[in-house]
Amino acid sequence: MSLKKIGITILALIAIFIIYTIAFTEKGIKPIQPEAIVPNLDYSALSEEAAKDLQAYIRIATIRGREKEGALFLKSILDKRGIPSRIIEYPGKPDRASLLAELKGKDTTKEGLILTSHIDVVEADAKDWDVPPFSGVRKGDRIHGRGAVDVKGLGIMQLHAFLLIHEKKIPLERNLMFLAIADEESRSEHGARFLVDKHKEIFNGYEYVWNEGGTGSKDIAIKGSKVFNIQLAEKGAVWLDLKAKSIPGHGSTPPVSYAAKSMVDFLQEVQNIGNKTVIKDETAAFFYSLGAISNFPDSFVLKRSRNPLLFIILKGVINSNRHLRAMTRNTVSLTGIDSHPIGMNVITSETTGSLDIRILPGQDEKKMFEEVKALGEKYGVEVSARHLESGSISPMDGLLFRVLAGTVTAVEPGSIATPFLSPGTTDSSYLRQIGLKCYGLIPALLSSEEIDGIHGKNESMSVPQLKMGIEILFKSIIEYNHQVAK
Ligand SMILES: [Zn+2]
Repeated sequence: MSLKKIGITILALIAIFIIYTIAFTEKGIKPIQPEAIVPNLDYSALSEEAAKDLQAYIRIATIRGREKEGALFLKSILDKRGIPSRIIEYPGKPDRASLLAELKGKDTTKEGLILTSHIDVVEADAKDWDVPPFSGVRKGDRIHGRGAVDVKGLGIMQLHAFLLIHEKKIPLERNLMFLAIADEESRSEHGARFLVDKHKEIFNGYEYVWNEGGTGSKDIAIKGSKVFNIQLAEKGAVWLDLKAKSIPGHGSTPPVSYAAKSMVDFLQEVQNIGNKTVIKDETAAFFYSLGAISNFPDSFVLKRSRNPLLFIILKGVINSNRHLRAMTRNTVSLTGIDSHPIGMNVITSETTGSLDIRILPGQDEKKMFEEVKALGEKYGVEVSARHLESGSISPMDGLLFRVLAGTVTAVEPGSIATPFLSPGTTDSSYLRQIGLKCYGLIPALLSSEEIDGIHGKNESMSVPQLKMGIEILFKSIIEYNHQVAK
């Protein structure tokens, strides 16, 4: 081939690649634009009532326990409206209780919708807070207290939307369940895992779940943006204990290898597990949605996240942001290392440690454990599994997802919806195990400060946020019913 021909071939290839780059974008999500007729309501008045309930609910300090009191409080509200409900206690620990109420649909055998939240909250250190964390105090239009966002706020929004469906006599095509669950914050033994194992029958006829896991946010992803991150996937967890042993010795004459050094060398190499960036369909759709509210050239790149050339640019952005890194790769956190030191000049005989590895959904947690164990053998480090859990994912084209994506943007014009893969886990990971399709969304726009309040200090939710949440929930439930009957 002559030089000229080679030159033409290269130019032709470049041209094809440029055309491909411009022409082919990722697909994005498929929101359903709301069609159903919804009664006009005074959501402001409703949110004032919900605010009082949220204050009272926060005052029941359900710190990793006492859920029964929380469940009885919710039950009292349902009782007043004449809606039957039942409390399910954990055997031997009646204090750890969940609450369930149902509104029956025309067809009770399929496609039911569950609104779920957890009753328990995490601890709050009063000295870090501006108000006592369990006072449920209202200042202006804001309710303060542990659980306001995670996740009693969502529970109250769901409860009031549920009450409205009953009160306005909305004809339901399918069952609607309100389910408040115990023990989410300590890995769900007395809550979701117990219900899935021992009371699986309560989920008969249900297909979709609206849970926590995602939130609306404002000004976070992009200045001025309003983004509803709808969680549809959660990463899995591989928690490992590590141990290296050797003969102790004098610090002045170290052997080639000894326990502490083996551990450090091993930990150095094990971090390579987190080097590879993976963009699956849902993450590509997440970037695509962000592209829709970004300016050129960002918009161009974000809508083409899997284009090999543009990916090089995007990778730089991902690598500089810990949240984006967690969404796109397996992560490795060194959560413990201890050489059990004695004195400056003593090489100790044992070093222990721990690793918290989070794997993307679809990857095998046992295989990851075996891989790390094999690497440990290379360095003389014993690796044992403390907890292995797979990731979970619900489909991006699931009806509830598409309804939510369409309704949030209709209620809040100028906002966008994105599919969201969360690095942490919620009860959805257990509910997905029995085939339920779960989507996580606190349907309100939160600032980064408000999101920091989750498990942090000064957690709060405003009355306008409750109002938006009730409106989105009520309209989404009606739209879901409309779509399911089509
Ligand atoms: Zn939570």
